[in-house]
Amino acid sequence: MSEWLTVIGIEVHTQLLTRSKMFCSCDNNYAGDEPNTHVCPVCLGAPGMLPTVNAQALEYGIMAALALDCSVPEFSWFERKNYPYPDLVKGFQLTQYAYPIGAHGKVDLETDHGPRRIGVRRVHLEEDTAKNTHVTVAGESYSLVDCNRAGVPLMEIVTEPDARSSEEAVAYLKKLRDVLVFLGIASGKMEEGAMRLEANISVRTPAEAAAGVLRKRCEVKNLNSFENVRAALEYERERQIAAYEAGEEIQQATLGWDSAAGRTVYQRSKEEAQDYRYFPEPDLPPLRFTAADVDAVRAKLPELRPAIIARYEALGLDRYRAELLSQTRALATYFETALAGGGKVERVANLLLGDLLAQVNERQINLEETTALPAAGELGRLAQQWEAGEVTGPQVKQLLPRLFETGETVDAAKAALGIRVVGGADELLPIIEAVLAANAAAVAKVKAGEQKVMGFLVGQVMKATKGQGAPGEVNRLLAEVLARD
Ligand SMILES: [Zn+2]
Repeated sequence: MSEWLTVIGIEVHTQLLTRSKMFCSCDNNYAGDEPNTHVCPVCLGAPGMLPTVNAQALEYGIMAALALDCSVPEFSWFERKNYPYPDLVKGFQLTQYAYPIGAHGKVDLETDHGPRRIGVRRVHLEEDTAKNTHVTVAGESYSLVDCNRAGVPLMEIVTEPDARSSEEAVAYLKKLRDVLVFLGIASGKMEEGAMRLEANISVRTPAEAAAGVLRKRCEVKNLNSFENVRAALEYERERQIAAYEAGEEIQQATLGWDSAAGRTVYQRSKEEAQDYRYFPEPDLPPLRFTAADVDAVRAKLPELRPAIIARYEALGLDRYRAELLSQTRALATYFETALAGGGKVERVANLLLGDLLAQVNERQINLEETTALPAAGELGRLAQQWEAGEVTGPQVKQLLPRLFETGETVDAAKAALGIRVVGGADELLPIIEAVLAANAAAVAKVKAGEQKVMGFLVGQVMKATKGQGAPGEVNRLLAEVLARD
């Protein structure tokens, strides 16, 4: 058998950035806090305690559904998904099953093989589980349960089996993450477990694809980076093909990914829906969403990244820079504030993507927040002054670290560093004449028509002005003097 086609479906769980948990008023911001300090009888599952639905989480769910082109049902309810597991203190998880908050959506991708569409089967809300930690104390092993995470609002987004390669799966995930983060409803932080990835994969022959036949699939869980998704899917595709070509069968199963060994590991055979004995949560009323409710949420949807990129392209930036400038909403806002402070698009973009981001990397600043950056308006001013020849390129490099450190205005930083531009014939001519006298050989070459040596002379003059020479003036006066005799 020569050709095998791949079929991939993707599931993402993301925690939502609400203030409180899904069904109680416990603080949802628990990172780094002592275990079991964000708990109450509701999220600990004490008998007789009544849950209430977090309205903010419902709104976030609808926002995601709309942004993913899903339809929102007129009504829904939460159901109990029953399974025994130590991190599930109640013995069941409240989740949306029959009526998810969004269904039949899509995400459009641009790939190397042209446009591709990934169907979004469903978006539903549920609650996170507690977190287990396994420790050994004095030779005895213990499992510790931290319930700070129990009941945290969780959203699950499930695709149709539409991705045809690991690249498409990763492209979908990147785009989905952008949507969630730009909506402001999720942090997207995979390393913290706030966004968790799973993918199911099967392979089939072209004839089976033409007939719409799917073979057994395997699901790889707990993938915590895009790279792990890519690697796990590549590995699993090869494993399944090798098995079929050896005449073996693939059993439907749930797998883990051992990133150190670079292989999938068997965890359990896949559960079926009936294993969970879903039934509607009797302690919560059904949810109703009117068209007006949904329209009110739609009106709040912020501008998403593709729209921002398109807007930057319309300003005259190329795709690459438009993508870099919109890598976080905070950076995009910063760029736009700098633009409003003056300076041309090209100059501000280049200043930001060149000198400023170099400083950002050096100082290991997180671009989700821009509070550690110089005021955006001052960056705009700097761009404007550079454009007008009031500062030179070398001076910009000198000024930026100080703007980071002191938070001063551009003018104050210039005064403090003694930065000014050496311009005008009075100041520049004596310097130019001295440089020419000291570089007779280079002067002779330029006069003999070797124009590229001109750059060397410009560099020498700039050096003599300690980088403070106005570049336009230097070039003009230098040419003038050289033409003189
Ligand atoms: Zn609670």
